[in-house]
Amino acid sequence: MSSYKPTEEEKERFMSRAIELSDEGPSNGHGGPFGAVIVKGGKIIGEGYNRESIDCDPTAHGEMTAIRQASKNIKSCDLSGSEIYTSCEPCSMCTSAIWLCRLDRVYYGNRLSDTQDIMDLTPLVKDVATPIDQRSTPGEQIKSKSRQAKDVIIKWANNPNLNEYLLTKMKDEKAQ
Ligand SMILES: [Zn+2]
Repeated sequence: MSSYKPTEEEKERFMSRAIELSDEGPSNGHGGPFGAVIVKGGKIIGEGYNRESIDCDPTAHGEMTAIRQASKNIKSCDLSGSEIYTSCEPCSMCTSAIWLCRLDRVYYGNRLSDTQDIMDLTPLVKDVATPIDQRSTPGEQIKSKSRQAKDVIIKWANNPNLNEYLLTKMKDEKAQ
């Protein structure tokens, strides 16, 4: 967790940039009205807007494009010590990405409930909290292959040079 605390002026300025970006997607015909910036120590290290249409990428939400750019800029999947400013409360996918890259804080413009009459993500939020085999896209484990699939993960986990960041994260989560 960073000791840096943004001033109210900074919060408003970075949120203004996120909102400005949220208008760029639709204006350019690139995607929906959502924008985000990632800030570290008072400086923008990544920003983006929704690019679902132009990239034919259903995962290209504003938060995701900002996270991708910030991670590339600092050459790390670990964005701890940084904050995200997003024009709307993140959806379940973006919440997962924010969790995985360890952002310190989420500043948001609208709540999801503020725009519920336009786009209702309540079914998604409920689905994520449902056991995998009962979701709207139901999961089915291929049990005969589970051992083989896990062996790859075990092999990976036993090679500390392969992905030190993820391993550290997994151990941290376990210790909590
Ligand atoms: Zn999202």
